[in-house]
Amino acid sequence: MAFTIAIDGPAAAGKGTISRAVADHFGFAHLDTGLLYRAVGARTLTGADAVEAARALVAADLDATNLRGSAVADAASKVAVIAEVRAALVDFQRAFARRSGGAVVDGRDIGTVICPDAEAKLFITASPEVRARRRFEELTERGVQTTRDAVLAEVHARDERDMSRSEAPLKAADDAVTIDTSAMTIAQAVEAAIAAVEMRMQDRP
Ligand code: C5P
Repeated sequence: MAFTIAIDGPAAAGKGTISRAVADHFGFAHLDTGLLYRAVGARTLTGADAVEAARALVAADLDATNLRGSAVADAASKVAVIAEVRAALVDFQRAFARRSGGAVVDGRDIGTVICPDAEAKLFITASPEVRARRRFEELTERGVQTTRDAVLAEVHARDERDMSRSEAPLKAADDAVTIDTSAMTIAQAVEAAIAAVEMRMQDRP
């Protein structure tokens, strides 16, 4: 049985944590599509051409350990505006989404462009201030030296680039359930996400 759960939303809204927990709960496979763009972005930082890097991408590239930093995130959102880069990554994402046994696919355009027919769609969001605070705490815990203001500016810049691009901009699909995690604990947000997916499962003929 194929069942796709599409999870979209801006950076640091809790999407990754929620996606992993939802996948665990239902026993589904999980694909963090941000890693595809990060892997391509990382290649451009060492001089590669973005489109060529996207076309040459293989699953093993997603296991690289250096994909989580801010410089790579920034490079990812820059290559993500290029139509040929996005096009090169479509088939891999769609094949993953339709694998048997169910899949959770998270990103920015999963419910709108990659899997418009997904059985369940969630849009996870939170205010920029809350997202910047969470990202700041995460970075500080990892020993990265930064300031709250720098992180907030980075969140705003990435939101702006992701939402204003002409190719697959970040936005909620019309039939997505929006969950604002600003005032929620992780456990509450996960519970809300699982409940929303269960509703969609019950709606199925
Ligand atoms: O989710 P993550 O922060 O890892 O994504 C890094 C960047 O990759 C995003 O800021 C966005 O520009 C891009 N991206 C995208 N479409 C996706 C996933 C990520 O454009 N489906």
